[in-house]
Amino acid sequence: MNKTTYRFETAAIHGGQQPDKAYGAVMPPIYQTSTYAQTAPGKNLGYGYSRGANPTRTALENSLKSLEQGSHAFAYASGMAAVDAVLKLLQPGDQVICTQDIYGGSFRLFKGIFEQYGLVFKFIDLGNANDLSKHLNKDTKMVWLESPTNPMLQLVDIAAIAAQLKGTDILLAVDNTFASPYLQQPLNLGADIVMHSATKYLGGHSDVIAGALVVKDEALADRLRFITNSTGAICGPMDSFLVVRGIKTLALRMQRHCENTAKIAVFLKNHPKIENVFWPGFPEHPNHEIAKKQMRDFGGMLAFKLRDSDQNATIACIQRLNLFTLAESLGGVESLIGHPATMSHGSMPKNEQLKNGISPNLVRLSVGIEAVEDLIDDLKSALNEND
Ligand SMILES: *Cc1c(COP(=O)(O)O)cnc(C)c1O
Repeated sequence: MNKTTYRFETAAIHGGQQPDKAYGAVMPPIYQTSTYAQTAPGKNLGYGYSRGANPTRTALENSLKSLEQGSHAFAYASGMAAVDAVLKLLQPGDQVICTQDIYGGSFRLFKGIFEQYGLVFKFIDLGNANDLSKHLNKDTKMVWLESPTNPMLQLVDIAAIAAQLKGTDILLAVDNTFASPYLQQPLNLGADIVMHSATKYLGGHSDVIAGALVVKDEALADRLRFITNSTGAICGPMDSFLVVRGIKTLALRMQRHCENTAKIAVFLKNHPKIENVFWPGFPEHPNHEIAKKQMRDFGGMLAFKLRDSDQNATIACIQRLNLFTLAESLGGVESLIGHPATMSHGSMPKNEQLKNGISPNLVRLSVGIEAVEDLIDDLKSALNEND
């Protein structure tokens, strides 16, 4: 099943998958082994040592390749391990241009670890793709994008950025965690590297931490394979299995995530206690046109600001919810709610937070696939309680 022309829903189930060679198991067995018997030194059945490759991980990597329409995929122990592998492509002195409101953990890795090794990070607003050229210089070696961004749901025109980098040696890397490949496929928009926290929509059940990279270019894949095998932050067989299993229902889940989120966005927008709802599906969202162009739907995430700007009142409102669980993370079947200023973006300095719109009354929702009427009822009662 290696045809690349399947529709997404089919590719999510069959892409790169085949019954296991030993007994025809329909799902890839969990090859919980570190090493493989050799018939003569260096002679084996395709696998030598599980840091380099493992059949369950291969099944996941083949699926990822098919979802993102790439040629090579790598599965990692976490999303951050995948980001880490990408940055190890660079040398001291190299400059990376990033979108401003990136995932807090990526910000921490860039500033807290890689700056020490001489990489230079420049955070800019890429709401207007044409602004990129002002920031490029001879040291620029990578552009790191998230779209939609976390938590403000801003979009970057990936194809427009890719067009500006064409013909240069600057790599375009896109963290596609928020959108999932169901909504957008950055390699097809001209990106060189697509990264996922597979912990989120790909796994989809909040039961695994994993990460992924997918690329098209052979030479780039060789470098990533060398980095990955040398540093060893690979996805284990059990975790690979869980992500493969999650991906089978990705299309169905995403469809429901998007439908529920659209209804909740409208409900919140009309609610007197809400000041602002950040969701790219609204025609007045500043990046709505980009969303229509590069995404299949508007996604399962939204953020909003309460009219009452007080942090304690915001947290009290969050705590009155029953169905939305207060938790880090996103992209699971269950609805989650987060307070970015103290949670996902707590490691970002206050002034950086405010610059990015992460105020104390900002709330982020990862809308699950429950009955949307129940989710709205839950929000309704939490908002209407007298503080
Ligand atoms: C969660 C997340 C990551 C990090 O992934 P882990 O699997 O938690 O290591 C990176 N980027 C985004 C956008 C995320 O949401």
